[in-house]
Amino acid sequence: MPEPILQTRELFKFYGTDAGRFAVVREVSFSVRAGSFVTIMGPSGSGKSTLLHMVSGLEPPSGGTVHLAGQDLYSLSEKRRTLLRRDLVGFVFQFYNLIPNLTVEQNIRLPLLIGAGDGREGGLLAGGAADPAAAPAPSAEDDVERLVELLHIGGKLRQYPHQLSGGEMQRVSIARALAGRPAVIMADEPTGNISSSAGEEVMRLFRRCRDEFGQTILLVTHNARDAAFSDEVQFLKDGQLQPQARLADGQVSPEAIAAALARLGI
Ligand code: ADP
Repeated sequence: MPEPILQTRELFKFYGTDAGRFAVVREVSFSVRAGSFVTIMGPSGSGKSTLLHMVSGLEPPSGGTVHLAGQDLYSLSEKRRTLLRRDLVGFVFQFYNLIPNLTVEQNIRLPLLIGAGDGREGGLLAGGAADPAAAPAPSAEDDVERLVELLHIGGKLRQYPHQLSGGEMQRVSIARALAGRPAVIMADEPTGNISSSAGEEVMRLFRRCRDEFGQTILLVTHNARDAAFSDEVQFLKDGQLQPQARLADGQVSPEAIAAALARLGI
């Protein structure tokens, strides 16, 4: 059994004041094997985004631990955590998080520029010296071209995010997350704004990332069609995982997902 690349123990997240705190994520413990495609499914408001932000290093938990590639994320300094995330994780944000004053092409190349141009101390986002026109390594160049083609955004490369539809922004944010061929792809509702056929293409692309490059995928979604592409499905209800409903490797199918959702009443 290979070591899990991601492991959480008893994760909690509280919001609110001390007078009225409420837990949006409670006691969440799970692990993800390197090279597997895992989905956490739950309805809107069940805590999926909060959980994904915590496991990626973007949002400190109120309690519990996250180990990513063997490192205890929240025992690291914020700077080390940011560097680890940059090295390992490609994140597809629910609301895209594209940089408004960069073109589509510059947005997609951003992870490559940050990794390559600046001794990892700043780069474009920090106003550092990285040049948006600088050429990344050839394999990264091939990857970008391939992603642009697969995601049908070749005609948009010189446009700015505000000139794109929601679906186009979503596809650009997926290309950006995959461009550096990260070990782990984390995706928050990545097909929410695209047609079901385009969504299916994205899920097939994730599977190719797993099959061809051994990348690990962690998806959070309320979409059962997307979840059916994964190796394993976990269910989140009111901030808590439902381990009795977990569909392990070999058990995932649209019918099994539908049955689990019905049993859980979600
Ligand atoms: P999901 O991704 O499943 O829709 P979220 O993680 O976005 O769920 O949100 C879970 C709950 O936490 C929701 O009730 C939401 O309103 C609340 N929540 C999320 N972020 C914050 C925040 N920064 N402050 C207060 N409440 C929040």
